[in-house]
Amino acid sequence: MNSITALSGWMSPRNPQQPKRLTGLCASGSRYLARVVPTKPFRARNSRPIVSFTFDDVPNSALTNGARILDRHGIRGTFYVAPGTCGLQDEHWTVIDRGGVATLANSGHEVGCHTYSHVKVQTLTRSELARETKRCFESLRAICGSAPSKNFAYPFGNVSFPHKFQLDRQFTSCRSIYTGLNSGLIDLAMLRSIELYDRTSTEESINAVLDQAIATNAWVIFYTHDVAPGPSWIGCSPGHLEMAVKAVKARGIDCLAVDEALTAIGVRA
Ligand SMILES: [Zn+2]
Repeated sequence: MNSITALSGWMSPRNPQQPKRLTGLCASGSRYLARVVPTKPFRARNSRPIVSFTFDDVPNSALTNGARILDRHGIRGTFYVAPGTCGLQDEHWTVIDRGGVATLANSGHEVGCHTYSHVKVQTLTRSELARETKRCFESLRAICGSAPSKNFAYPFGNVSFPHKFQLDRQFTSCRSIYTGLNSGLIDLAMLRSIELYDRTSTEESINAVLDQAIATNAWVIFYTHDVAPGPSWIGCSPGHLEMAVKAVKARGIDCLAVDEALTAIGVRA
């Protein structure tokens, strides 16, 4: 079976023998297609540059340190939660519990979807992925007491072309971990982002990103995980986050949660 046959077979609801997963070259080719082929193109119409601070998985420290720093500066963040992992101990951190998710929502932050069980979406069949997102929506609705955000972040940044196609029908936006700014003609199903890690970003690199955002009227989406002294390899220290926030504020750039930023670029909710 060539890759085109495999892809079309996976996407067809009439095919009773859809493969459980794409493998090997087919899988990497499909990830490449997902990255480069826009499935939800949109011409951004923001009048000013925008920055969003986003947090994946949401370790306890992203609430106790991360959200607290944003609160102090009057900024709403976007926190992508996989509710099935709430309260679980990971290699690097403990994930916030359901009460922590409610605290974020009650503090005015956006709580987005990150699947229910934090799974690589490419490993799921179409119906498994539908169940994951449905469960995520239902859990977040029960925890937060209101309709959850329709914004999604790909766990591990992993997605194939047909999975992306499926998710962009359910969500207003899907954030990737592919590096870049969002300006002009963007793909709402593959929003570009910038790591906010102590390991990979510096004050100089962050300033350069922000200056580029001003020059190109772009939307910058920072993302990180834990916010702790001595952070994990995919996290940042409180001082690093504070530095980035101050750099944004010093330039007078609007800090908006993803749902607000979508409105600012002209997407109807
Ligand atoms: Zn994640």
